[in-house]
Amino acid sequence: MLPRDEIRRRQKRIHAEVLQLSRSMDTPNFTRLDSDDLRRLAMLYDREFFGSALLDAIGRDRLRFELSSRMTRVAGKLVTHHPPPAKGSRTTGFTRADARSDDARRFELVLSSTLLFQAFSDVDRPITVTGLECRDRLEAMQRVCEHELVHLLEMFLWKDSSCAGERFQSIAGRFFGHTDYRHDLITQSERAARKFDLRVGSLVRFRHDGQDWVGRVNRITRRATVLVEDARGEPFGDGRRYLRFYVPLENLRREGPSGC
Ligand SMILES: [Zn+2]
Repeated sequence: MLPRDEIRRRQKRIHAEVLQLSRSMDTPNFTRLDSDDLRRLAMLYDREFFGSALLDAIGRDRLRFELSSRMTRVAGKLVTHHPPPAKGSRTTGFTRADARSDDARRFELVLSSTLLFQAFSDVDRPITVTGLECRDRLEAMQRVCEHELVHLLEMFLWKDSSCAGERFQSIAGRFFGHTDYRHDLITQSERAARKFDLRVGSLVRFRHDGQDWVGRVNRITRRATVLVEDARGEPFGDGRRYLRFYVPLENLRREGPSGC
């Protein structure tokens, strides 16, 4: 197990180096981000914490790094793609000496750009990821990346992975000093509530096609889903018909009393 201050030193070195090498990220609270930055970040982690052995062992061609603006609750995920069984292939009693060539899985490490960009933006509160308080957006990104790298390591070596599990938490603690496996990044719902005083159920007014509409917020993701009662709409469980609109939060005005 690495001493805490050594972990911290390596994390700081990565923080500095990724900023220096990136063409998109200009400051620790960067406003642009590219999947190349994530790839580079993972490579730096591999170098600093795994002796550059992890990504090589998996094989770079089997790894993809992606950013997703559609992930609005999950900060990161590791997707494992299993190849379809080859036609006519049979399992025999022999075990190949080179086990890796039998492992044709592909891995995709995805981070939510939406949640990262919402951290250290217009809602001002401390952000904790994996039990560690983050001082800027890049630190939050590092914590999420570390978490997903543990998933990758577990998935690769043991073919399953669970961050609620003891093995995961032990690895995450020993390598990266994590004390928790969750994040409290700012979700769309929190941002909607704090910045716009909007919640699911809020009565709102908005303009669409030159017309004013009044409806209720039904769901909040990147935009709000607003239902407007209208005879032309689709039937809902409550026996009424509603038109459905997807409206950016900043285009909604609250109707009636707030704070409920
Ligand atoms: Zn996890």
